[in-house]
Formats: sequence, structure tokens, C-alpha cells
Amino acid sequence: MSRYIKKDYKNFISYTPGEQKNDGSYIKLNTNESPYAPAPAVLNALSRADLEALRLYPDPTGRTLKEKLAALYGVESDNIFLSNGSDDILNFAFMAFVDEDEAIAYPKISYSFYPVIARLHGINVNRVAMADGLMIDYRNFCGLGQNIVIPNPNAPTGQALTTGQIEEIVRTNPDHLVLIDEAYVDFGAESAIPLTKQYDNLLVSRTFSKYASFAGGRLGVAVGNAELIKDLASIQYATNPYNVNRLTMKLAEATVDSDAYYRANAEKIRATREHVTAALRKMGFSVLPSLANFVFVRHDKIDGRELYEELKKRYILVRHFDDPAISNYNRISIGSDEQMDALLKELAEII
Ligand code: PMP
Repeated sequence: MSRYIKKDYKNFISYTPGEQKNDGSYIKLNTNESPYAPAPAVLNALSRADLEALRLYPDPTGRTLKEKLAALYGVESDNIFLSNGSDDILNFAFMAFVDEDEAIAYPKISYSFYPVIARLHGINVNRVAMADGLMIDYRNFCGLGQNIVIPNPNAPTGQALTTGQIEEIVRTNPDHLVLIDEAYVDFGAESAIPLTKQYDNLLVSRTFSKYASFAGGRLGVAVGNAELIKDLASIQYATNPYNVNRLTMKLAEATVDSDAYYRANAEKIRATREHVTAALRKMGFSVLPSLANFVFVRHDKIDGRELYEELKKRYILVRHFDDPAISNYNRISIGSDEQMDALLKELAEII
């Protein structure tokens, strides 16, 4: 840290993203990317004219992409906010909706980015107690009287709440924002997007990074009441009005047009997840029930960090977290069947 850093950030602990070893030597099961290539229409979406147009700024309103997404999600264009990945949405939402003397509540075991954004903006956090088995007890969020963010399915555990449970949380906190982070909703959970028509305190965030094979393209989408969306846009315009670039916009339009292809991939990932879960349990792993594109696992015979290191030696990357509450676990992304067979083979040897 330089001596010039602002006082507030002197001892700031930032977020550490999963390792990005992309030279092809590793099987990468650590950042929940899709193992499948983008759809053919995406691979062919960019013309020379698109590249020549790079000299021009992108449309800051993202009108064409918003219209396509509105049709896909069954809402209007003014219910949609676009961003450079969904982490940006989380950041803008914390900035827009959480006062410094208020707190943001989230499950005690959850996405490790939330406390970082809260620290960045000097916001207090309320880490809400989990039920047994690292499960979220939705009742702990009902009538809380605080701003709330919950990933559904939860990360890194994979557990999903029902829309009925989410509605109860939203309904009983009418004076606060409830942000449902649906980064992993496409692998079997129910979306809360339909509820945004009824509740003006509900914001849903989505990402193209997982099911849409678009982590490198960086597109996040928020859906909510038009007034919430305007608030987000005003914060975004105050930081970077052009935060979704021209190429991403064009490629994302082709992605939405190819939705059936991505739905089919999500189905394949679900099938692989079920098969891998059964195989891991047979090996003596305890595997939390997951509706996401990852599983959260531990084994009585080997420490979580040691298993992570052993796999890394064998060129397989999984995600390990040092938080003592979950340091015995590893989060393993669901890759292709071939990748998962290689993982199972190595695990059998290690165990
Ligand atoms: N929410 C959750 C729960 C996540 O795990 C991630 C991925 N790390 C994100 C949001 C952000 O994804 P992205 O910025 O790629 O959209």
C-alpha cells in the first residue's frame, strides 16, 4: 500500500478472485464458468463493420439489448439495467440503496464479495445465522427491517430458496431493498423476476457469466421496478456511463437470440451435477444438495485445504475458502462429463 492511499482504505481488505490459469494445462473447476463454447450465432456475430464502429462510443442506454432481454424475462425495457458483470450491479445497488448508518444483511455463509463492497462504502453488515447443514433459514430474514442481499441459489453452498420463501422476505421488509442475486438461477432454481411486478423493493440480478458461456464478455442484468432501475442508472452514470462496451452489447444480443442453446447446456450441466453428486457420495464425500453449477463438498478423511492442494498438483483447480466455518469444504464447478470423469478418477486416488 502506498503512503498516498486515502485514510479510509489504509487497511482495506479487498476481494481475491479465483485463480485464472487459462493456458490449457489445468482443468478449471474453480470459478463456475461454463465448459461449453458460446452459441454459433455468437461466434459469428461480429462483422468488420462492428469492428470499424469501435471508434464510436456504445449506446449508453443499451436499447436493443434491453428490448431483447425484456422479451426474454417478460418485463418492459425500463425494468432492465445493464452492467459490466453482475458484481457491478451489487456495487451500484449498495451505493444507491444502503445508507451509511444502515446495515446490509446476508446469510452468514454466502458470497464473499458482499462484505468487501460493504467495507468499501463504510456500510455495516449483518451476517444472518444459518440453520443446520449450512442451510439458509428464510425465516431469519422475514421482518428484519434491514436491506438484504441473498444469492439464490446460495454461493458457495448451492442451496435454493423457493419463490414463496423469497416473496415472504420481500413482503415483510417493505421499507428496505431486497436484492436477490440470481447468478446461478439457471441450473434449476426458480427466478423471482415475476415478483418484481408486484413489489417495488425487489431487485433481481442476473449474470451471463455462468449459464451463457460469457464470463469473459462481462454482462450483468438487473431487473426491477422502473424507479429502482433509474436509481441504479444514475449511480452508474456517475461512475462510468459507457460501462457496457460495443462488442459485449453485440455479442450479448446474439446470446439472447440463442437462448434455447444455453438452456440445453444448462440441462446438460444439471445432469452432470446429479451424476457427479452420486459418484462423490459413493466415495464417502458429503455433498450439499445443489441447484447451481457447482457442488460444495467435504470428506472426513482429508482436510479441505489439503484436498485443494492435492488436486492442484494434479492440474485440477477447485475453490477453497479459508473462512474457518467452511475451510473443510471445497467448491467444485460442474464442467463437462470428461472433465468431471478426470476429477473423479483423481479423487478416488487421493482418498
Ligand atoms: N454473484 C455471485 C453469487 C457470484 O458467485 C458471482 C461470481 N463470482 C457474481 C455474482 C458475479 O459474477 P459476474 O460479475 O461475473 O457477473
